[in-house]
Amino acid sequence: MAIELPDLPYPYEALVPLISGTTLKTHHGRHHRAYVDNLNALVRGTDLADKPLEDIVRHAARRKASDPAMTAVFNNAAQAWNHAFYWRSLAPRTDRPPQGELARRLTADFGSQNAFAQALTSAATKHFASGWAWLVADRGALRILTTANADTPIVQGFVPLLVIDVWEHAYYLDYQADRARYVGGVVDHLLNWSFAEENYRRAAEGQSHGAAPARTGAL
Ligand code: MN
Repeated sequence: MAIELPDLPYPYEALVPLISGTTLKTHHGRHHRAYVDNLNALVRGTDLADKPLEDIVRHAARRKASDPAMTAVFNNAAQAWNHAFYWRSLAPRTDRPPQGELARRLTADFGSQNAFAQALTSAATKHFASGWAWLVADRGALRILTTANADTPIVQGFVPLLVIDVWEHAYYLDYQADRARYVGGVVDHLLNWSFAEENYRRAAEGQSHGAAPARTGAL
């Protein structure tokens, strides 16, 4: 069965005014769809064709150094996975702060919720060129990291809790070159903390990759 483009978990207009409906429609319907379509074309008729998306990402990551054909598979599969995770990392504006054990851990690891928000905003804003800014669980601890292009922490031994897309296509229609304003709006108002809490709970229980889409049937 081919990899499918997951529906957005909210309407295209749900993140207005911080992210426009035009941006979401293009980002989901053109960019994310292209990664899914490219991936299906690349794996059609191969052993990977029937594998779950996360397995394709891991396989291609292991093989791409020795098999040049695996670079395109990795790039498209990882982008498909990262985008599905990004949609779920956002939520229509609720201004709901992190709660429970994750909130306690954020304060312990970053000093305060505010210091965490500043660190994530800074990392996402300063990341050079295209990529992603993540909150991940590194064994018990929380870390902020960024990855370039399609790179994804699921092949680096981390459990992602939240991600912000910092490719220009995520914000250019709304903010032109002002990535800081896009990132600031996302960090302050759109992060889906109940999704992050669920991912953290599963990470703490030792389940690999938490509520990642490939494990919950969302893809
Ligand atoms: Mn994107």
